[in-house]
Parts: sequence; C-alpha cells; structure tokens
Amino acid sequence: MGPPGAGKGTQAQRLGKEFGMVHLSSGEIFREAKAVGSELGRKLARYMDAGELVPDEIVVEIMADAVGCVDGGLLLDGFPRTVVQAEVLDAQLSKMGKPLDAVVVMTADTDVIAARITGRRACPRCGRGYHVKFMLPVREGFCDDCDTVELIQRSDDSEALVRQRLEAYYVQTQPVVDYYRGRESLLKIEVDGNREADDVAGEVILALGSLARD
Ligand code: AMP
Repeated sequence: MGPPGAGKGTQAQRLGKEFGMVHLSSGEIFREAKAVGSELGRKLARYMDAGELVPDEIVVEIMADAVGCVDGGLLLDGFPRTVVQAEVLDAQLSKMGKPLDAVVVMTADTDVIAARITGRRACPRCGRGYHVKFMLPVREGFCDDCDTVELIQRSDDSEALVRQRLEAYYVQTQPVVDYYRGRESLLKIEVDGNREADDVAGEVILALGSLARD
C-alpha cells in the first residue's frame, strides 16, 4: 500500500518474482479492461481518468474473481483501497483458507511522487514499468522484455491529476492502513519509498524473508 508514485508497482513486480507469488495489480487489471473498450472499460475510464477511485461495488466484483483464480501465494498491489474493500477481501480470504500474512506500507514525499509520476512509462504488453530519468530501458522508448513494443504513458499520470489521486489516497485509503495496523497476526512492514528502488526492495525482501522462514 502507499500513495501513487510511492513505488508499489515496481516493488510488487520484484517481490512477486523473488517469492514466486502471483502479482495482482487492480490498476493493471482495470487498464486492460479499459483497453478492450467494453461497457465495463468505459465505466472504469470515467473514474480512472478523473483521478478518482472506482466505486467499491465494481472493484469488489472484478477483484473477487481475480483473487479466486489464484492458487498459491498472492501479492496484491493497489487493492484494497477502501475499508469496505478490505472487509470483503478478508471474508473471501477466510473462505479460501488463505490468511493475509503481511502488509507493506510505502511512504513518499509529494515532490518525489510528482517527479516519479510524470516521468513514468510502462510497457502496454507486459506491464513492466520504466522512468524517463530513474529507470531507463536499454533502448529508449522500448520495453527490454518485449523488444519491439513501444512504451506508453498512463492517461492518469499527468501533473494535473496528481493532487486528486493523492487526496483519494489520504482520505479513502489511509484508513485501510489503520484497519490493518491493529491486527496482531499480521506482519506490518513500513518502508520509506523515497529511496532508490533497490534499497527499498532489499529492506522489504529481508522483512518478508523472516515470514517465509516461519
Ligand atoms: P494504480 O495503477 O494502482 O495507480 O490504479 C490506477 C487507477 O485505477 C486508480 O487511480 C483508480 O482510479 C483505479 N483503481 C485501482 N485500484 C483500485 C481500487 N482498489 N479501488 C478503487 N479504484 C482503483
């Protein structure tokens, strides 16, 4: 969890690989639905392109399906983002006999967030993230893994929407951090996401490693 630009996607991709977990990014799933141009995609676009959260009923329906399909370790990125979503997720995980083990909370300063978001690029095929200054691909403008696929900028990664998205985080998602904070059985890892991605990853992997050994 963390505000937009804190580095959730970058870290989630690394952690998924490191621990062999399935990485489910709600934002990525919604962007795929948007790209298809279906009725649902158009509905999602209305909220996403305005920097607002998608309503809980829609999120919960899509994410319950995605979570239900995963057999084995699961890494959630961008979901849950409201207390209602967290409650629905709890109920589903408990039905599946798959307890939540850890929550990683990333923080970042507003100026760092703005610089990261406006320079962010992604591969539309594999979802791999890049940055025009901090995480360059080998060949400018193209994905290292997908070779001929040109990198794109997300439609909501504009300077104009940063404030709106940050507000959504602090008003609607911060309470989810508090919701998990009181839970004793959960490993809570709070990291300073202002630093280099390698440093953040090292710290989180170390902390999650203790859980993997238990
Ligand atoms: P992300 O890629 O995680 O930054 O998500 C991009 C956008 O998708 C967000 O700004 C929201 O509009 C929407 N979104 C993603 N996940 C959720 C969620 N769990 N609840 C509500 N909206 C979401």
